[in-house]
Amino acid sequence: MSKRRAMKRSANTVAPNDGTKWGHLSDAELLKEMARELARRQATRGELDLDAIESLIASEQRDFGEDALAATVDALPLEDGTSKPCPKCGALAPVKVRNRVRHVMTTAGELRVSRNYHYCNKCEHGFYPRDAELKLPEEGEVSDAMEKRILDFSMNGPFEQCAERWDIHYPFPISSNLFRRVVDRVARRRESAHSQLALQQAALPSPEQPPQWLVIAADGSMLLTREDGWREAKVATVVRGENVIPDKAVVDPRYVAVLGNQDEFRAALKAALDAELADDVMRIVWLGDGARENWTLAKELCPFAIQILDFIHAVQNAMVCGKALLGESDACLPLWETRIRQLIDSDSPDAAIRELMDCTLDATDEQLAAIDQLVGYYRANTKRMRYREFRAAGLPIGSGIVESAHKHVLQARMKQAGQRWSVLRGRHMVQLRALYRTAGPRRFHWAIREALKSPPARPHHTLPNGPRRAKHSYTPSRFTRFGRAKLSK
Ligand SMILES: [Zn+2]
Repeated sequence: MSKRRAMKRSANTVAPNDGTKWGHLSDAELLKEMARELARRQATRGELDLDAIESLIASEQRDFGEDALAATVDALPLEDGTSKPCPKCGALAPVKVRNRVRHVMTTAGELRVSRNYHYCNKCEHGFYPRDAELKLPEEGEVSDAMEKRILDFSMNGPFEQCAERWDIHYPFPISSNLFRRVVDRVARRRESAHSQLALQQAALPSPEQPPQWLVIAADGSMLLTREDGWREAKVATVVRGENVIPDKAVVDPRYVAVLGNQDEFRAALKAALDAELADDVMRIVWLGDGARENWTLAKELCPFAIQILDFIHAVQNAMVCGKALLGESDACLPLWETRIRQLIDSDSPDAAIRELMDCTLDATDEQLAAIDQLVGYYRANTKRMRYREFRAAGLPIGSGIVESAHKHVLQARMKQAGQRWSVLRGRHMVQLRALYRTAGPRRFHWAIREALKSPPARPHHTLPNGPRRAKHSYTPSRFTRFGRAKLSK
């Protein structure tokens, strides 16, 4: 017999009599009642398909859920209106407002709870003891479990599409604005994390030992903003050398992304490097697009790194020059590309520079400028273009790693047709996307909460509710399988 079958329990035979809609029936009787309801529907409508059964059960489950939530809240002892200790200073703080109502959307339905608001004059801090008792989220209109789901949708598609997709998965609609609000709220929480290092470590645990070698790839990517037009987002990947599979994807990459200035980027990247114990790594490879600020950053953060100009960027820049010489859509451009690839795939760009100089003979001023720019770019990066040597040493010369950051972190979510971002939400989304792609969907939401705490005593910690460790119990023991309150003795 399979494990799943063995775990199946028989239905409860005692009615909870909790005053809810179905409270007079035991779970076993309830099942029979549902079967009768289905039979009635079949008799009146003359049809009964799986669709009808599923939708009946789903809507009943939601009713049960809301009844159970209401019953749980009703069963709590009334708040006595006495002063309660302030969570900040511990001094007793009196009630300021009685019975303030709050609605919280949960996966089991809407929770409505009325509770007292206390205020500590000394700390100028207001609080709801009942919220803490019920572990309600500190702000917002959704439970933690809902937030996790809403966030997962938000990370993967435009907000309007999120709302549409939500409708397919859940029986109650939510607005596209709620997806936006949740993103902003979680992003603010991310910003109040204990440290960027804590975030990195919660997203992806540090290695037990410093890795043999590390690869860092940094790049820029333009995002369209509402206020400022195109703005550059800076992205970086940090990945252990053994996780770089040539010409393929990388395993367990750590991503960093900011829509902001170089200082912010440096701080974020430093945290990722610290999380990889970079100070103790013997060999570090830094791949860049050739932008000067990139190499400056490399020198500051990893002064001993082997700097490599990303091969694809070296070719792309040659194509800009090729278009200036031959024309925007000349049939010879593919040949130009092949030739450049051959020429620069050597121990220095000298051969490529020589051939480029041959093109200057009867060039126009504009064409000369294009050649000059490319030659200058190759000369500035000569030491970083020893591709044959790098390849022989088994070092990555780019593309895959640089592209993965660009595509997986930004393009997939933030550069879809017609997308324009407010600078603030753009900043939020860029940071969240990098963390999301580092942590993975299962760990992401948890990691942000985890990083609010002070740094871990142990540097490495495993996910408490990871897929292999979780005891799958979807109903708390106070409820029956139908989400109804259990009969208390
Ligand atoms: Zn206080």
